[in-house]
Amino acid sequence: MNATETRAGASDQPPTPPIVLSDVEFGYTATPVVEDISVRIDDGEYVAIVGPNGSGKSTLMKLMLGLLRPDEGTASLFGEPAHRFDDGSRLGYVAQHANAAKEMPITVREVVKMGRFPHVGFGRLSEEDWEIVDGALETVGMTAFADRRVTQLSGGQRQRAFIARALAGEADLLVLDEPTVGVDAESVEAFYGLLESLNEAGITILLIEHDLSAVTQHAERVVCLNREVYFDGPTGEFVESDALRRAFGTAANFVGDSG
Ligand code: ADP
Repeated sequence: MNATETRAGASDQPPTPPIVLSDVEFGYTATPVVEDISVRIDDGEYVAIVGPNGSGKSTLMKLMLGLLRPDEGTASLFGEPAHRFDDGSRLGYVAQHANAAKEMPITVREVVKMGRFPHVGFGRLSEEDWEIVDGALETVGMTAFADRRVTQLSGGQRQRAFIARALAGEADLLVLDEPTVGVDAESVEAFYGLLESLNEAGITILLIEHDLSAVTQHAERVVCLNREVYFDGPTGEFVESDALRRAFGTAANFVGDSG
């Protein structure tokens, strides 16, 4: 319900931005690993966070999701302090490798069914819930694999199963942490095609990505991080800017960039 209300803009109020970080600083020890971070992700955007290894991308994502609390500044999720946010159905998170799934002896349909749990509580899934589950499987092109165990899927198929779980939950924000690591090239293309169509359908997408060519081809906006924000703006401007060189060092380049 929330999702449709927000997307349809039931009132004249602009929708609450899914993510707002203001002047955030955080360190695991006394030394901050991210500082001076002010980033706002608006409803319906498709944003990629890029940066070299150790630049604070995962930390930033955890701050955004409320898994870590800022030492300074504030982080909000759908207008609430991120660490207090508890409407899990609005947020779909697809982890790197979807690692946990590798050990799960359950089928794809069972994974996707979990997406309905925040809506049904301890009750049984209704016919309508199952229709939503099947619709989500269809959207990600996994209907034929519904009864297969997730342990028997390729990396790309597994990631699609986890996206279907988020869709079944009617998430309006999808956060993906390097979702295509270990996924073959052909499936990567299909995967980004899927993200694009979900974004066109109104879902906000936040992607953490080390593959710069994927980012520049697909995301609309780039936040380039190395402890601080080096760049935040349209992808085309990022490609033209010197932020990449400043954040990554001189060796960095876009794959396929012939100069
Ligand atoms: P990225 O995702 O860009 O690779 P991270 O956010 O994982 O960067 O890490 C940023 C910095 O914080 C690195 O210097 C890393 O070593 C440090 N770090 C990450 N997680 C922890 C942790 N749990 N405890 C202590 N230091 C950490």
